[in-house]
Amino acid sequence: MRKPIIAGNWKMHKTAGQSVFLVRELVKKLKPDLTVEVVVCPPFIALKSVSTFLQLDEVPVGIGAQNMHWEDEGAFTGEISPTMLIDLQIGYVIVGHSERRHYFSETDEMVNKKVKAAFAHGIKPIMCVGETLSQRQAGKTSEVVQRQMIEGLAGVNEKDLENLIVAYEPVWAIGTGKNATSADANDVIRHIRAIIASQFSTSAATQVRILYGGSVKPENISLFMREPEIDGALVGGASLDAQAFSQIVGYRLD
Ligand code: 13P
Repeated sequence: MRKPIIAGNWKMHKTAGQSVFLVRELVKKLKPDLTVEVVVCPPFIALKSVSTFLQLDEVPVGIGAQNMHWEDEGAFTGEISPTMLIDLQIGYVIVGHSERRHYFSETDEMVNKKVKAAFAHGIKPIMCVGETLSQRQAGKTSEVVQRQMIEGLAGVNEKDLENLIVAYEPVWAIGTGKNATSADANDVIRHIRAIIASQFSTSAATQVRILYGGSVKPENISLFMREPEIDGALVGGASLDAQAFSQIVGYRLD
């Protein structure tokens, strides 16, 4: 059984102080009987303070970075390495988010290096894939996602896939309020699982957790979580509100 996981991607929001405030508010609102793994991904400058807070309070909330470089160190001005994240006890890293691909020209090859570096350091990568609106309209969703999956996971050892999390985030659904239908998201995620099966094995594919992301809110989370292939969500805007995010992670299926 795959344990559901819901991660909040705070993007470029919140100072270090505001981040600790938000996570403290969130923790106060979490139900004690949560069945999902909850992860927050604050900006780099807040990772230390949020990580320290979570450790001191022994709170069952994981912490992730939104990006990282693949080298351990070097002359890469402005970059953050896996060893720096490990030092702060960071357990997850978002890799290949569409905003990094589109605004910062991240390629599948770079995504692949980051995924491998994350595995090498015991950080769980949340590898994002998804089509743009024009690609969807041209009927290219399957093809685009297939390329991103195959190139993103090229040369990865099958045994590392137990630590892989994939997020299917259709670009047209991000921050637009226009979520994919749960049936559509389930279909693409089934396709993603089939790609993993063909590149690696069926048993590897059945254990990888695959999330949906794009305008997830308290009102629609249950629809996604009801789908058999969807193992959780990567939440942007709604994760910046403690009340909304606590409702999302405390979703009910009935
Ligand atoms: P929104 O939830 O704001 O649409 O963002 C989704 C996202 O990009 C999460 O990584």
